[in-house]
Amino acid sequence: MSKPKAYSVKAYSAASATSPLAPDSIPRREPTDRDVQIEILFCGVCHSDLHFVRNEWSVIMPAVYPAVPGHEIVGRVTKVGPKVTKIKAGDLAGVGCMVGADLAHCPFCRAGNEQFSPTQIGTYGGTEPVLGGPTYGGYAESIVVDEHFALRLPAHLPLAGVAPLLCAGITTYAPLRH
Ligand SMILES: [Zn+2]
Repeated sequence: MSKPKAYSVKAYSAASATSPLAPDSIPRREPTDRDVQIEILFCGVCHSDLHFVRNEWSVIMPAVYPAVPGHEIVGRVTKVGPKVTKIKAGDLAGVGCMVGADLAHCPFCRAGNEQFSPTQIGTYGGTEPVLGGPTYGGYAESIVVDEHFALRLPAHLPLAGVAPLLCAGITTYAPLRH
């Protein structure tokens, strides 16, 4: 098997639970068949990001350093894999707190509830499914995710304001709607 292809992007990472965020570079996988590559234009700052980099969730989600937070991601699609159907280069897209899950076999995924699936991959603090190593969040120049986890955004929205909808917004809206 050939080595998975990666490219390097600039990011802000914390080197330890007590260090401030600082410029760094991280690997992203080259888009595979079902992947969407997004140039990140805005990323919200959520308190969960602070809990994570300070390793205050060490019991449930221990931080691996360098840690790159950010799960309220908005940007422009720069490349898509050949099997991507719902989004294309040039579209605006958002990514929330998940970047992957089994999707095909797990009963939670099959019911459309991948947020309950033990196979879900966190936008950060998860395991990168192609490259191995940790997943890195949205305090970065770009991100690559399975198309299922890229939300196409209408062009007329103010994008900085859309970013917090990916976490705080949906967390409030979903239970009310439910
Ligand atoms: Zn959040």
